[in-house]
Amino acid sequence: MVRHSLPRVKSLVAKVGSGTLTDPAGHFDRHNCNRLGAELAEAARTRRVVLVTSGAIALGADKLGLVRSRARPWDIATKQACAAVGQPHLVAAWGDALAPHGVKVAQVLLTAEDLASRKRFLNARRTFARLLELGVLPVVNENDTVAVAEIQVGDNDSLAALVATCVEAELVAMLTDVEGMYDRHPSAAGAQLITEVGRVTAEVERMAGGAGSDRSVGGMTTKVRAAKRLAAQGIGTALLSGRRPGALADLLAGAQVGTFFPPEPERLKGRKGWLASATKGKGVIAVDAGARKALVEHGRSLLPSGVRAVAGHFGVGDPVDIAVEGQRPFARGLAGYGADEMRRIAGLKTSEIERALGYKYLDEIVHRNDMVLLEAGPE
Ligand code: GLU
Repeated sequence: MVRHSLPRVKSLVAKVGSGTLTDPAGHFDRHNCNRLGAELAEAARTRRVVLVTSGAIALGADKLGLVRSRARPWDIATKQACAAVGQPHLVAAWGDALAPHGVKVAQVLLTAEDLASRKRFLNARRTFARLLELGVLPVVNENDTVAVAEIQVGDNDSLAALVATCVEAELVAMLTDVEGMYDRHPSAAGAQLITEVGRVTAEVERMAGGAGSDRSVGGMTTKVRAAKRLAAQGIGTALLSGRRPGALADLLAGAQVGTFFPPEPERLKGRKGWLASATKGKGVIAVDAGARKALVEHGRSLLPSGVRAVAGHFGVGDPVDIAVEGQRPFARGLAGYGADEMRRIAGLKTSEIERALGYKYLDEIVHRNDMVLLEAGPE
């Protein structure tokens, strides 16, 4: 995908950050919400559009009269309470912003756990598809009131990426409080807007660490990571201003707006795309260097003999990360055995599985067909 093919995009996920929906004092910016609503409605006339919106916590805090203070960060329960107060107002605000343009909205609240379960993921996909067929614009947020750390996506950049996988979007437009990604913090002297990031390398990720926008949960880091995962699935990402009138329309017309991350030419489809889109697995299988080599260089399945340790609670078919101990995961796959079973057969030869467990499903702990490599991009 190149920029000038963006006018042909038929399926879009737009992500709007809290900083775009609140003014500097932290109050809800209804004017900007209404303006964005008009632009989204326009985009939705010829495309399938799903909106991922932050702002529940910010809106709830505004309603409750809590002053946001960086010096005294709120505890989780307060944030969740704010989200519970703010979420209905947030969806109502989007409903009000879109109604004058004849667009109805639906509320969809998700957690990472929902999308990590293949069954629930497919259910969500069906619901999205039906909503879009009915001409409704789904308004998605994390289900913050129930999302504790273990099941949380945590930031809406990652949530937008998961939703894009779910609806098979071609493009994710992240509307934020800066014009795009800069080569250093946007307020620093001489900061330059990067118009296109060919590939998200380790260096780009490092650069993003220093180039943050101030008020979003993840700043640039989560946006760049999401863009990387999306690229591997053949989905493009654009970072653009959620404040500048017409920025979204210009982007969709193919103009040079913000920062564009083109997708990799070969996309991971179906189950592998879903696996690559998840932010993390339900557990981690620590393997030795030999197993890593067999997986990464020789395209093999993971056998129990290469397993050193197993962390987390997961059952057969759950997504799990595969890592060399103490390092970042290099692969993710569907568990062929549950966590407790894996602990009992870790380090054994395949011929010893049956004796250790009293039964055997498969030789493979994680089968190659159910695995994606995370660092090397698409296979
Ligand atoms: N779900 C959070 C909210 O609506 C925001 C998360 C984020 O901005 O990344 O307030």
